[in-house]
Amino acid sequence: MAEYSLELNEDQLQLQKWIHEFGIDVIRPAAAEWDEREEFPFPIVQQAADIGLYGWEFMAEAMMNDPTGLTIVVALEELFWADAGIGMAIMGSGLAAAGIMASATPDQLMEWVPQCYGTPEKLALGAFCASEADAGSDVAGYRTRAVYDEATDEWVLNGTKAWISNGGIADIHVVVAVVDASLGSKGHASFVVPPDTPGLSQGQKYSKHGIRASHTAEVVLDDVRIPGACLLGGKEKLDERLARVREGKRGNAQAAMQTFEATRPAVGAQALGVARAAYEYALDYAKERETFGKPIMQHQSIAFMLADMATEIDAARLLVHRAAWLAKNGEFKNAEGSMAKLKAGRVATWVTERAMQILGGAGYVKDHPVERWHRDAKIHDIFEGTEQIQQLVISRAISGMRIE
Ligand SMILES: Cc1cc2nc3c(=O)[nH]c(=O)nc-3n(C[C@H](O)[C@H](O)[C@H](O)COP(=O)(O)OP(=O)(O)OC[C@H]3O[C@@H](n4cnc5c(N)ncnc54)[C@H](O)[C@@H]3O)c2cc1C
Repeated sequence: MAEYSLELNEDQLQLQKWIHEFGIDVIRPAAAEWDEREEFPFPIVQQAADIGLYGWEFMAEAMMNDPTGLTIVVALEELFWADAGIGMAIMGSGLAAAGIMASATPDQLMEWVPQCYGTPEKLALGAFCASEADAGSDVAGYRTRAVYDEATDEWVLNGTKAWISNGGIADIHVVVAVVDASLGSKGHASFVVPPDTPGLSQGQKYSKHGIRASHTAEVVLDDVRIPGACLLGGKEKLDERLARVREGKRGNAQAAMQTFEATRPAVGAQALGVARAAYEYALDYAKERETFGKPIMQHQSIAFMLADMATEIDAARLLVHRAAWLAKNGEFKNAEGSMAKLKAGRVATWVTERAMQILGGAGYVKDHPVERWHRDAKIHDIFEGTEQIQQLVISRAISGMRIE
């Protein structure tokens, strides 16, 4: 177990500096253009792959060889400080990789995770397809079905997934589907749909409020046939699990909760990056901009706003780092991962709004990046579990009671 310390080690400080410099040199100059075009920024992701920032080796190194748990959150804060839309384009494949890691056998993991990223010579993308139009928070409502065809040892997938990052443009789609509708959310399984599988197509591409450089679309599955080996975890394990659920034995809900809690600090770190970008910009602006004969920083109302912004960002970072450390070294007790994500999302939305206020009219127009950061921040209250779903998880954890 690593000593509980929030001090970053030498490797983490270097990583932070490396991503910061990539952010300044490559991402920030391109951010407004890709936001405006609302297209996936392949040239920027290519540059990230060329330096080793986009790739499964980077993710493996950041997540597995780090006893403190802090490396990945430090990296994400810095990337999203540079730009959240491009940050999401670079990190979107990580959702698919995490979906694979959550249920795969070691062989499946080694086969499919690298294929979510490809190589710098031939980039690939991954997509994690869980949500549906009528079922985002309410995962028991998924309708996408997976039916086993014993004669050919294939699974046949049918349904439509909604709001999928990299949906339809990915090489690897990880799909959560219903295998036994009578078991609600316990009757689901995850599948890998390999590249170029017939029957998988992109539905509508969404036009978004923020993180517009990331690609979000429907994924349509029309009689998609995949080999039996694409069921993550394997058929034997699935059959055993379903049998246990049918007998009324409790599934391993505790393990599932620990998994979700472990991924939430990463989303909190993304939100932190956006918040910090807006805070720093507003602070600089407040020291320069003069009204009534003095810098607006010397008006107490502006100074106090910035003091609160700095305090809230630090508070959110402490929660994110604590949760990241717990994910590696401890047990979550009161849904500390959800607390971190809840707080950081709210802080990002609030801080970016305050930053616009500090810039006045300049904050509302596209000459400055603050309006974009404000649009980008809001997603962190919504995806990977909304604000209210985090509250639900936390309130259940602190009370031990069923709260609906
Ligand atoms: C840009 C973007 C990218 C995304 N990327 C992906 C992706 O890659 N893969 C993927 O699978 N999904 C993805 N999503 C989907 C995302 O995770 C869902 O949108 C999110 O979980 C919310 O689900 P919903 O939209 O159905 O909202 P709903 O569940 O319909 O919620 C509507 C409102 O009701 C509240 N609510 C719902 N249930 C409760 C309850 N029990 N108690 C109190 N309040 C409740 C919610 O908090 C919310 O305020 C993405 C979404 C967006 C916008």
